[in-house]
Amino acid sequence: MASRSRLKEIVNKGELDMAELTQIRTVPEYFGENVFNLKTMRNYLSAKAYKSLSETIKNNGKLDPTIADEVADAMKTWAVSKGATHYTHWFQPLTGTTAEKHDSFIQPDGEGGVLLTFSGEELIQGEPDASSFPSGGLRPTFEARGYTGWDPTSPAFIKEGPQGATLCIPTYFVGWKGEALDKKTPLLRSMKALSKQVGRLADLLGIKAKQNAYATLGGEQEYFLIDRDFYYQRIDLVQTGRTLFGKEPAKHQQMADHYFGAIKSRVIAFMEDLDREMWKLGAPIKTRHNEVSPGQFEIAPIFENQNLGVDHNMLCMEVMQKVAEKHGLACLLHEKPFKGVNGSGKHNNWSVTGPDGKNWLSPGENPHENERFLVMVAAIIKAVDNYSDLLRAGIASAGNDHRLGSHEAPPAIVSIYLGEQLTDIFEQIEKGSATKSSKQGGTLEVGVDSLPPLPRHASDRNRTSPFAFTGSKFEFRAVGSAHSLAGPNIIINTIVADAISDICEELEDAKKGKKDINKTAQKIVQEIIKKHKRIIFNGDNYTEDWVKEAKKRGLPNMKTTPEALEVMKDKRIAELFERHKVLSKKELDSRYGVYTETYETIVRYEGALAADMVKTLIVPAALEYTANLAETIKSIESINKTKATAVRNILKDVASNMEKAADETTKLETALKGASTDKIRKIMADLREAVDALEGLVPAEIWPLPSYAEMLFIS
Ligand code: ADP
Ligand code: MG
Repeated sequence: MASRSRLKEIVNKGELDMAELTQIRTVPEYFGENVFNLKTMRNYLSAKAYKSLSETIKNNGKLDPTIADEVADAMKTWAVSKGATHYTHWFQPLTGTTAEKHDSFIQPDGEGGVLLTFSGEELIQGEPDASSFPSGGLRPTFEARGYTGWDPTSPAFIKEGPQGATLCIPTYFVGWKGEALDKKTPLLRSMKALSKQVGRLADLLGIKAKQNAYATLGGEQEYFLIDRDFYYQRIDLVQTGRTLFGKEPAKHQQMADHYFGAIKSRVIAFMEDLDREMWKLGAPIKTRHNEVSPGQFEIAPIFENQNLGVDHNMLCMEVMQKVAEKHGLACLLHEKPFKGVNGSGKHNNWSVTGPDGKNWLSPGENPHENERFLVMVAAIIKAVDNYSDLLRAGIASAGNDHRLGSHEAPPAIVSIYLGEQLTDIFEQIEKGSATKSSKQGGTLEVGVDSLPPLPRHASDRNRTSPFAFTGSKFEFRAVGSAHSLAGPNIIINTIVADAISDICEELEDAKKGKKDINKTAQKIVQEIIKKHKRIIFNGDNYTEDWVKEAKKRGLPNMKTTPEALEVMKDKRIAELFERHKVLSKKELDSRYGVYTETYETIVRYEGALAADMVKTLIVPAALEYTANLAETIKSIESINKTKATAVRNILKDVASNMEKAADETTKLETALKGASTDKIRKIMADLREAVDALEGLVPAEIWPLPSYAEMLFIS
């Protein structure tokens, strides 16, 4: 093994280059090395403490306070051995990003020196002075206390800095009365609600429980990479994450030659580094590839427990940006950094592992397993139809508004794709024994018949559906690339829990009445499909026909964030979240407040920046060019004594677009003083048209911003 000798060589030379070291170690040797996982804990804890903590983690239970000090001390000892000097409670405020405040482990020893200490109390609870986070009125500043609390179900990890390391402890973040101020608290609550209902259903269906049911998540993350120099030359990218102006290049994604293409060496170097960093953090990263747009890529993990899946995605978004910096690149996570080419999303692959330890969205091998599968899919159909508006609200943001419904991403209309075969099965169930004409040539009885094998990777995979069954899980594809996955999963967990709860009630009644459970399940699935089949659509979601058809079916179509968020004011939604103890009315209202305000703020600062850029960058460049042109016209006409018609035409073109740009900028500035966000966005679109036209006229050396062609193709 050459790599081993190389390792020795490095160690002997004393040149410990971490990147090189990890490169020549095999993945199992360093996977999870920066995580305080069960394996590591075993080495640092007494047998008693280890047993107690691992039970807590497995059962989502409460931590035994008598072991807290021992656990904290073990964590510190481990972290210090990895070079850590500080710890932080790592949490997820409503900004949708992560937050941290560092404390060092030092404690004066009274003799002029220090000890390194970390107590159980410090591990379990923190009180960051975090009064500046948005709380939507939940936490007026005079009672601004917010507490972070340890989430033992997501393991602590080490973040390596350029000069040291920090122990990060995943925490939830609540107000002094326990009000959720973050995204993790309601996520954990919704996971609990779902687990409870799935357990209840398992019981009714006679499925033996070995464990608690839990939701699983695999988040596919899309992103752009551009050269960092270009990034710094674009103030719009630096400040808003997207280009506010930019002319489509002649060649972009027409040939689809980037998708799954050979990966350029600078990009693969970034990807290798990223995979390594994520593996060290214990995230099971699996795939990497080029996406449709030039400059666009994707990374995806193997699915995990949902809580961990969310944390790993949050961490991934952070690590991506750091690794990009190291490679002289900028990683763009915005949903629509470039107009005219594909935007970026995040496919939310969701399923449930039941109390039997099996995936409940995998069609089973016997009638009994099929029953749990069919009931589960029926519950999801009901849930999505009842709450498609809430799902839409859950993925609403200023960034995602630029992407949804523009023929490259799911439309703003939420519908379900089941595939031909599964649709046929539900149609058979709906028609009951009255028909023999279906494709399978018979009728299907829930809990009695076997299902025909469903293709896990059917060739007719529908890429246009926002909520698609893909063999063993549902894929919610409308999530934005910059979003936290917590939001959509809180909603999916809760609405599915609610639908299962309804089903359980009916089954419980049947059981009391000594009725046959299979027959009752059959009837329930039949009724659900009759009532909710309008949500199923297997066709092309990008067509105008579907928009019309969806309207006929009464499915909501909310094009913008403000429209979509209104549903959060609905009594039905408040009751849903309260019923399952996921969010109180007050907590829901606070989120409505934060999200609407965030949207307003983004649209307004983007508008202000656009106006600034036009005045200080675009117009000066256009003026310089018009001056050149005027000079040229003068000399040509004085020499030739004829009209320089061609040049005069160019000048006319430049001047009229410049005037339009100046005009729209004035309008924009007036609108920014109080007009609606819709109005601001409309003016920004008109302004952009004039500016992009100018970009096509003004010489490249004078144009003050890197072009799309440069940014998308040079790396
Ligand atoms: P695709 O369906 O896009 O072709 P894959 O089958 O590889 O691709 O899955 C995409 C993502 O879905 C991966 O992150 C994968 O781990 C995840 N996934 C697979 N099974 C499940 C499941 N039971 N629960 C949640 N996510 C899952
Ligand atoms: Mg996918």
